[in-house]
Amino acid sequence: MSSPLVGAWPPFLAASGFCSLVSPELAWLHLLSDLAIGLSYLSIPAVLLVVLLRRRDLAYPWLVGLFALFIVACGLTHLMHAWTLFSPAPVLDTLLKAITAAISVTVAVTLWPVLPRLLALRSPAALEREVMERRAAEERLGTFLANLAEAVFVVRVHPDGRLQIESVNPAFERMFSVPGEGLAGAAPETALPPPLAELALPRWRKVAEQGAPMEYEITADLPSGRLTWQTVLVPLRGADGRVERLLGSARDVTATRRLQAGLVQSARLATVGTMCAGLAHEASQPLNTASLWLRRARAAARGLPEAERAAFARAAAVVEDQLRRAGDLVARIRSLAGAEPEAAGRFDAKEPVAAAFRLAASEAAAEGITMTLRAADGPLPVQGSAGRLEQAMMNLLANARDAVIERRRNQPDAPASVEVALAQQSGSVVVEVRDSGVGIPEAVADAIFDPFFTTKDPGRGIGLGLPFAASAARAMGGRLEAWNRPGGGANFRLELPLADAGAVPAGAGAVPA
Ligand code: ADP
Repeated sequence: MSSPLVGAWPPFLAASGFCSLVSPELAWLHLLSDLAIGLSYLSIPAVLLVVLLRRRDLAYPWLVGLFALFIVACGLTHLMHAWTLFSPAPVLDTLLKAITAAISVTVAVTLWPVLPRLLALRSPAALEREVMERRAAEERLGTFLANLAEAVFVVRVHPDGRLQIESVNPAFERMFSVPGEGLAGAAPETALPPPLAELALPRWRKVAEQGAPMEYEITADLPSGRLTWQTVLVPLRGADGRVERLLGSARDVTATRRLQAGLVQSARLATVGTMCAGLAHEASQPLNTASLWLRRARAAARGLPEAERAAFARAAAVVEDQLRRAGDLVARIRSLAGAEPEAAGRFDAKEPVAAAFRLAASEAAAEGITMTLRAADGPLPVQGSAGRLEQAMMNLLANARDAVIERRRNQPDAPASVEVALAQQSGSVVVEVRDSGVGIPEAVADAIFDPFFTTKDPGRGIGLGLPFAASAARAMGGRLEAWNRPGGGANFRLELPLADAGAVPAGAGAVPA
């Protein structure tokens, strides 16, 4: 038994001339192959059309379209071939073939010049490799920024001038004591600590408006302490030339600035200290001689008549008082210059601070000034001279009182308070004296630690209180700093190394730096 495909002509071919050329099996195969090729050729462009419609980002879409047209034309010639088995249509067949030939030649001619550009297109594997490399580079940059000691931040500038924090690195969070989460996308006015926002934002706005890079230095009291930082702010423009972002990097220069100020101060004091030591030495000789002769004169006056003896005693008391004042001054100058030997030891800083506070508080109460003392729990051990620290505190508290009184003279309703805060901060004991007084005039801020500098009336100030306090702090391995408080008044900060932290310099308490 034979299959319909094997050994028999298809019925519609029996009468055509086709069967005279091929065997029936080949004729079936020919017909079915043409149909299969034709239909497949129509299906492939359909797929290409879907790709063209869905992937608008394709390179050379016109080439894909031309290729689809070529495949359609080829498919139609095959279907035409199948059709001519049923009914020969030589004119249509030839026309179709001619059109297909034209399209084929066009595609062939077009493809060759495009070939180099096609070869230059990156393959998916190359693109993937590039993406991976970029990702790795981004990760490297991310790790670098995360470990950078400098604070880096990006701020978005909206067209209406509004600023928005886009991202910050961990150093930014550490330096300015702000939690990282919630910062991205936030308005800087509300997200940053007020002192930082108040000082930095006007500069950020200026760079956004003017479009020029800016470098600035700011000092402010942040939750982590008093900080000085240097910032470089660069505007980043978009395609339309508008400043779209600000890229900033900030470096903590607190330690450097302190060191520089300390060096300048030390250099000044070294000169003044030598002068003072010489002066004190020279002055002590005549003072001692004058005291000796006063004692002798008193002894000789015993033989005078009563009235003259009384007059002499009054005059001698005045001279003695003046000699004592001069002697006190010489002693203070000697201790300022480090010429006085000091008893150095380990003691609780709270004790001399509290003793000075008690003395000052009773005087201040009489003036209607409120004084408060806040101290951390537990002892705060430091190394040096307790007596010298107490004297330094007395000087600071007396100055605070004077500043408050001076302010009240012009503004009777101004607040009258002095706060003393004693705390431990990492390896240091920090004593702060904050007053609501007149504040330190900007013009003299650099001079207040100089010996004999005073803005007080003659007879009220001699300008040795702060140099003495600063010298006491240095002798204990610490420092004294001062600045004005935002709301008015001054803030003096005495920082001493914690004795337990092992940062006590050799010879502490004896000789100032
Ligand atoms: P004196 O008190 O004898 O003037 P100081 O060395 O103690 O000497 O102070 C020097 C100067 O520093 C003062 O004259 C004053 O101008 C300024 N000063 C010190 N403490 C304060 C303060 N708490 N507020 C404002 N100014 C101050």
